[in-house]
Amino acid sequence: MDFDLKPEHRALQKSIREFMQEEVKPLVKQIDRDSRVPDELLKKAGAAGLFGIPFSQKYGGMGAGEIGYCILMEEMGRVDASTTAIIGAHTGIGVMTLYLDGTEELKQRYLPDLCSGKKIAAFALTEANAGSDAASIRMKATREGDSYMLDGEKMWITNGPIADVLSVLAITDASLGARGGATCFAVESNWEGFTAGKREEKMGLHGSPTAALKFDNVRVPQENVIGKVGLGFVTMMKTLDIGRVSLGAATLGGAEVSLESALQWAKARHQFGRNLANMQSLQFMIADMASEIEALRSLVYRTAWLVDNGRPHTKEAGMCKLLGSEIASRCIDRALQIHGALGLTRDGQIERGWRDSRINEIFEGTNEIQRIVIASELFQEIGVRIRP
Ligand SMILES: Cc1cc2nc3c(=O)[nH]c(=O)nc-3n(C[C@H](O)[C@H](O)[C@H](O)COP(=O)(O)OP(=O)(O)OC[C@H]3O[C@@H](n4cnc5c(N)ncnc54)[C@H](O)[C@@H]3O)c2cc1C
Repeated sequence: MDFDLKPEHRALQKSIREFMQEEVKPLVKQIDRDSRVPDELLKKAGAAGLFGIPFSQKYGGMGAGEIGYCILMEEMGRVDASTTAIIGAHTGIGVMTLYLDGTEELKQRYLPDLCSGKKIAAFALTEANAGSDAASIRMKATREGDSYMLDGEKMWITNGPIADVLSVLAITDASLGARGGATCFAVESNWEGFTAGKREEKMGLHGSPTAALKFDNVRVPQENVIGKVGLGFVTMMKTLDIGRVSLGAATLGGAEVSLESALQWAKARHQFGRNLANMQSLQFMIADMASEIEALRSLVYRTAWLVDNGRPHTKEAGMCKLLGSEIASRCIDRALQIHGALGLTRDGQIERGWRDSRINEIFEGTNEIQRIVIASELFQEIGVRIRP
């Protein structure tokens, strides 16, 4: 066992930390207030290589694997959740779908621009009547000559309004349903018939654009099928298994920074003639935060190691997402309590973190769904099949 980061990962961590402090931190309040991450900032992040960290250098990526990608998400999660969501949805699920199952030709065509940030990706699975029950999607892809015609709507798609390339799941054989009859496609947003709706107004992640998408008979060439016809559901679930690890890393960053601010405030603030650090009930909160964060860090990086070494990781990925989101919510809530009234101040780091973190328990599969995934994996190990 080696618990140290490799020198190249340490160097990556340092450069991302510097980028986040210099370029993103000064804009965090503005991003939350204006509900927009400036294009200029995304361009700088692209130039710094932040849009292609896990992918092979052959396609213009950094070749830093899932561990490198988790370092990115952890460092970003410490500073700004909206920028994290944009780059996370792009890398961890949007591009990842293509990277895992796309043909060599598709990868050569799309990955260089996606890795450089010149183009942005999104992952379009959810529909109005298919949230947790993703297998009940209705969007159709009908074969017409050498193409498929995509018709239907998606909902709640991160990066939907800004994406250039989208991984989209649609039904190609209704008689088989999603498991066996759904196919994944790479769709370009400038193709006729595609429109993105208005940005949803959410309680948090204001700068991360989320929208419904309309596909009105969008013609998609057959070369743009990602993976095998009929097996798109498997491609998308496999992708989410990876996305959930990095989401765990992002929540780790959010939890860490809340602990650091709680420690500093407990040191600085005096009541009853002593600082808060001397109040045992607050010490207990801080000890619980630190213990949970330490456990989460081990889980996230061990799971990233499983991914990088081609080992099964579905159960552990579910745990990263489940524990990460709940630990981050608990830590931020405790940090808010320790800050007292100051923690509630609008535009403050704690208040924003509290609003931003709640969504982590919902997207990329709710925490109830993660519990089902983990339990299914455990029961499967003893030959019992359970259904959601
Ligand atoms: C900000 C944001 C960004 C998103 N980005 C994307 C994206 O980029 N791409 C994409 O495809 N989707 C995206 N989503 C959609 C997201 O994945 C879904 O919202 C999520 O899967 C839950 O679906 P739902 O909201 O329809 O809730 P529902 O499925 O309606 O669930 C409602 C409640 O019932 C619970 N529940 C449902 N079924 C069960 C069950 N069997 N057992 C126990 N409890 C159950 C759920 O856990 C939840 O608490 C995003 C959502 C948000 C809010």
